[in-house]
Amino acid sequence: MRLLKQTYPKDGESLYSFLHRLALTNYYHHLGSIFRDIGYSAYESSYSYIKNNSPWGNYLIEFLNSNGHNIDELILNQFDSLLVANGVGGTEEGLQSHRVYNRLYTKYCPHCFKDDFYHRLHWEITLLPVCSKHTCYLIERCPNCKNKITMGRLMTDKCSCGEVFSEANTEQAHKKVMTVQNKLHSLITGKSHYIKRSLGDKLDVEEFFQLFFLFCHLIDGLDAKQFSHSSAFKDVSKFNFSFKYKIKRSVKMMAFQTFVAYQLVVNPEKELGKVFETIKNVYVERTEPYHTKYGYIKKIFNHLKGKPYLEIFSNVMNDSKDVYVNRITRVKFNKENKRYITMGEAIHLINSEHATLLNLCNKGMIKFSQTERHGKHYTLIERKSVIEYLEMKKRCLTHFQATKILGLTFHALNAFIKKGSLVPKHGPGFDGYDLWYFEKDDLNLFLESITSKASRIPSRTNEWITLKDAVYKVRYLELGVTDLLLKVKEGNLSAAILSSITSPTCRDLLISFKDLNKLREDNLNERINTRGYKPKELRKVFKVGQYTIEDWIHDEILTISHYEKNDNDSVTRYVDKNQIIHLLRKSKGISKRDAIKYLEGLQLLPK
Ligand SMILES: [Zn+2]
Ligand SMILES: [Zn+2]
Repeated sequence: MRLLKQTYPKDGESLYSFLHRLALTNYYHHLGSIFRDIGYSAYESSYSYIKNNSPWGNYLIEFLNSNGHNIDELILNQFDSLLVANGVGGTEEGLQSHRVYNRLYTKYCPHCFKDDFYHRLHWEITLLPVCSKHTCYLIERCPNCKNKITMGRLMTDKCSCGEVFSEANTEQAHKKVMTVQNKLHSLITGKSHYIKRSLGDKLDVEEFFQLFFLFCHLIDGLDAKQFSHSSAFKDVSKFNFSFKYKIKRSVKMMAFQTFVAYQLVVNPEKELGKVFETIKNVYVERTEPYHTKYGYIKKIFNHLKGKPYLEIFSNVMNDSKDVYVNRITRVKFNKENKRYITMGEAIHLINSEHATLLNLCNKGMIKFSQTERHGKHYTLIERKSVIEYLEMKKRCLTHFQATKILGLTFHALNAFIKKGSLVPKHGPGFDGYDLWYFEKDDLNLFLESITSKASRIPSRTNEWITLKDAVYKVRYLELGVTDLLLKVKEGNLSAAILSSITSPTCRDLLISFKDLNKLREDNLNERINTRGYKPKELRKVFKVGQYTIEDWIHDEILTISHYEKNDNDSVTRYVDKNQIIHLLRKSKGISKRDAIKYLEGLQLLPK
């Protein structure tokens, strides 16, 4: 059928709108009366999308051809390669066109109608719920009777309730939404061909929409309130892109959902972590069929440009204190950076037993975190603290190893720790940990501070005695190996090492005989002058037994002039020098000078 009068499609005009104007030009008042051959389709359909083998579709293609017009620019099918058959929907193409195109009912902008009364094809794309020109939401229901709007009614500008469509008021769209809408509009209509990601790279229009739809599915059904700017969309509680949910779609929901999906594709750092966290919890609580969500996540990561999203996912999962993270097997991510690991993984790492791990946790050597889920408690171990513990062990030496390196006995090593000359990294008397650990460097520095004071001699002469013998000789003065070594370290006692020994330890030290005697003398002198004699020495002086001395003390013939508490809580008693000289003079009837000489002879009063 060829009409007498012709007209031409306006910019972005839809097929229905064009046919309607063509009908009016030829004095028909409605499309229904011109296309009787295709029945009621003009009342039921918006003619915006032609499916294969659609009877009215084939008829209209033929009709336009015979009137010299190309149908392609008037129908939504032109966007299919981008929005429907983009390789993401797969077998769901029929469903996908339903998601992205209006087909039965339409929406419109009254301001555009006032500018020029014709229907714009892009109003039929559900991803574009606002008018880019007038920055307002499109109207999807009659403002008066609230019914959905058919194309047949809209083109007469009058609802069945009497409302004039072009007189309707509109609501301004959120500024941020407009920015995203303008970008989507340009991409769909071919005005721009790529989008920049915040990461600094570009997505071409195909890549963008592949990812965009995957993210639409990812956030589908999720609580919309968790996303920023949700306050501008008070009526939108949840997203429903897939039509799987009962909640009704609206222009506002589509505006918000496309906004969020766009942001997730382009600025994933901002809110994608939160989405993954939410989905992880959905999985954990088993409140939704989690496998579909992880299916989309997998597709996103497998996408040519999907790597940055996988990194964000890995970070979220690795930072999680949730034990279920270990059970996520559908999506492969790098678990090596996991912040928290299970007890089993920790035991494997430290190569030890459960009890050892618990002990390490109790002693604070390894950090842990406890979570509760469904009344069950889970302990997760902080991976970093395990690594630090292992590194400490690798770097440090045990108590036993330390005695070997230093050439000291356990007892001597402990005495040095007690004196504070050597500070361990960990240990029973230090930080409560059961085992002693020493930094290798600390031990070497300590050893070096002693051995470096020793002179090197080719062979041992009788000027020198071994450390062991030296210790034996000063034992009665209550001097120990630590006192001798500290004196060597301070340069107050000469020491030597045979030059044939390449890596000497304390055991290899030779002590100067002369210095040792001087030390003994000084020590004795100092002690007798300041504190006096011990009861044991008095037995030697007066050639009497222990009981006699005790009797003298009891009878106050001798008075204890000094008490000293020892490390083992015993007490040493001393009697001062003058009492002894006085008693010697009295009992032996000798002079003070002779008494002194007598004591000197006993080596109990150094000259
Ligand atoms: Zn408009
Ligand atoms: Zn109405």
